[in-house]
Amino acid sequence: MGLPASGRVAVYDAPGAPFHLVDYPLRPPASGELLVKNRMATVCRSDIHTWQGHRPGPCPGLLGHEIIGDIVALGEGVTQDMRGDPLRVGDRITWSEYFIPGSNYYTDVLDLPQKSRGVDKYGHMAATTPPHHHGGFGEYCYVLPRSWILRLPDILTDAEATPLNCGVATMIAVTEAAGIRIGQTVVVQGLGLLGLYGAAIAKARGARLVIGLDGNAARRERAGRFGVDLALDPGMDKVDLLQEVLALCRPEGPDVAIEVCGAPQAILQGIDLLRTGGTYVLGGVVNPQAMVTLDANLLLKKMLTVRGVHNYHPRNLIEALDFVVANRSRFPFHELVDGRYPLERVGDAMADAAAQRVLRAAIVH
Ligand SMILES: [Zn+2]
Repeated sequence: MGLPASGRVAVYDAPGAPFHLVDYPLRPPASGELLVKNRMATVCRSDIHTWQGHRPGPCPGLLGHEIIGDIVALGEGVTQDMRGDPLRVGDRITWSEYFIPGSNYYTDVLDLPQKSRGVDKYGHMAATTPPHHHGGFGEYCYVLPRSWILRLPDILTDAEATPLNCGVATMIAVTEAAGIRIGQTVVVQGLGLLGLYGAAIAKARGARLVIGLDGNAARRERAGRFGVDLALDPGMDKVDLLQEVLALCRPEGPDVAIEVCGAPQAILQGIDLLRTGGTYVLGGVVNPQAMVTLDANLLLKKMLTVRGVHNYHPRNLIEALDFVVANRSRFPFHELVDGRYPLERVGDAMADAAAQRVLRAAIVH
């Protein structure tokens, strides 16, 4: 593949505004960079939040951070992926949704590279910011220095591989934070893409029972194929819900509850359901101002552990890939990408995803 002179990206000029295509020049990748021809980018819930203006995003905005692509050109010094496998032109790769400025206190002392000061994410920058191609909703993407790259095995389809670097890796981090152990019972609040991966990963980590909560009947219906043993409507009668959960999580309630529904009110329900000494992990309330009033005395009396997870550690990307490769015949991950759109129809993909007409919309190139 030769290097074309330019490539198109889909941008929006203000929150909620329609997308339009803009052509930006391409240059050979600089030292430490890769140039990738995007193959598929899936619409993440946070893309929708940003486009709708529920969280700040620079404009003209270029979105899309769940991406895979084929290497077009390698910059100086880029020879291998995270595992040490060689990288060559034409290889299909995934890469961390974020990149960091360099070694710092967060990498060296806290082991939280994903929270490094100055961390930035693909699909989170203005399209006017060089090198312009840094998102999934475009034909090309520069993988910038200090990203984490993995070559994808041929066995994975594009639909199985694209959610790895956000949805799957995030849920690896969330279930790691939950410390799920063999035989435990887990409640998952929200059965969107994150919840389904969360249920499947919880089972792979040894959970004996997963209960899913979601107000959408179609989502509850699908959840059984992803490891959810019982799916309930969180809006059902509170006493009935508690009884159903307790009957399966003897004697006092689930060991772990995971919030991936993005609704702050759900936190009260999750904390209420947990057993004494249980663990609650927040993974979905990614918007600022997710206000909730709770009786803090409950946290104390029940001796709960509450953890928040934002982004993920680079090791979680390797674990995400290995988990999907090892469990792709146990769980039908290929079903999760259920809408495909060309770059010209990013607006339709976003609208369909926002209205929950599709679970994961994909821009295909
Ligand atoms: Zn995402």
